[in-house]
Amino acid sequence: MLIDTHCHLDRYLHKRFGKVIHPILQQIEEQQILTISNSLDLTSYDTNCRIARKSRYVIPTFGIHPWNAHKYINRIELIKKLINKAKIVGEIGLDHYYAQDRTRYPAQTKIFRLFLSETRDKIISVHTKGAERAVVNLLRTYGNKKVVIHWFSGDLEVLDEMIKEGYYFSIVPEVRFSDHIKEIVKRVPLNQILTETDNPGGPVSYMGEKGLPVLIQIVVEEIARVKGVSLKQIEKTVEYNLIRLAGQFADSIFPAVV
Ligand SMILES: [Zn+2]
Repeated sequence: MLIDTHCHLDRYLHKRFGKVIHPILQQIEEQQILTISNSLDLTSYDTNCRIARKSRYVIPTFGIHPWNAHKYINRIELIKKLINKAKIVGEIGLDHYYAQDRTRYPAQTKIFRLFLSETRDKIISVHTKGAERAVVNLLRTYGNKKVVIHWFSGDLEVLDEMIKEGYYFSIVPEVRFSDHIKEIVKRVPLNQILTETDNPGGPVSYMGEKGLPVLIQIVVEEIARVKGVSLKQIEKTVEYNLIRLAGQFADSIFPAVV
């Protein structure tokens, strides 16, 4: 089964991405892609939950993206409640690259710390752009282990530390176009590899257009090429990795896989 551990299905409903979800869900159903739809804030969480009711392949997650953290610093109790209800958490983390306004960094850290303290037994999808070192330090402080590092593109020294901590890495379609991402794939052991698209917006930066669910196939192909194993083996490995990561909760979180 193909697995997209990190995308944003709610974003397809934005004007920029065409405002239609039906053909997207149709593709997910036809190709049987297990799709973990990440949230950026409360509104996108509501929309993702609504979309997930339409397909057994879609799993919504709750998260506050670092870009939105400053809007939520006074809503701690509500966030705690929603974290406790969610089976998977994302997208959370730190961003010191796209987020240029440094006055908002303390809010990012505060919200990220809150999430980490409440999710030690949950799968979390973590954004690290430009803040890889700070993220690994906080993950160590809180002891989270069910960690999926989303679209890692940082330096190899931090990568090696994250690998040692046992974190998982969800690889993006950019692997086809980037030697640095290929190098990352080379270094991450097969049993810590996952696959994602970051659709629909992620692929715009290197493909010039929104991504569709089938893009996940490119990721599997490229990982297979870099690792020198078959497509089927990568597909199976990613499936096992996700089930291992979910542990005792696998069948309640991913009824479509197990
Ligand atoms: Zn994302």
